[in-house]
Amino acid sequence: MGMSYRRYLSGERIYGCSTCKTHLAAIHSMISRAFNGQHGRAYLFDTVVNITEGEPCERAMTTGHHTVRDIYCCKCGSTLGWKYDKAYEQSQKYKEGKFILERRLLVDVQ
Ligand SMILES: [Zn+2]
Repeated sequence: MGMSYRRYLSGERIYGCSTCKTHLAAIHSMISRAFNGQHGRAYLFDTVVNITEGEPCERAMTTGHHTVRDIYCCKCGSTLGWKYDKAYEQSQKYKEGKFILERRLLVDVQ
């Protein structure tokens, strides 16, 4: 919050915050739909805009140990998912620097 400048995305399909419809990610930056969040299905994205990041924390997941940060909508402050800072398992390294958005917290804005 406290950010007055927001980016607008363009493309085939844009996902936004389900609360305030701020643009968050475009379908072309989606890496995978096969993730699970805290509220069910979640998507992995390469690039997400208009978010603020929380403090890093350690989390044990079914795919191993990770350092993650919760991510929030920069306009309304809703929690949207998390960002992977670090993956400890070699097979999970591709997720580093990538973002999880929970499907339930997203809305199609275009
Ligand atoms: Zn929002």
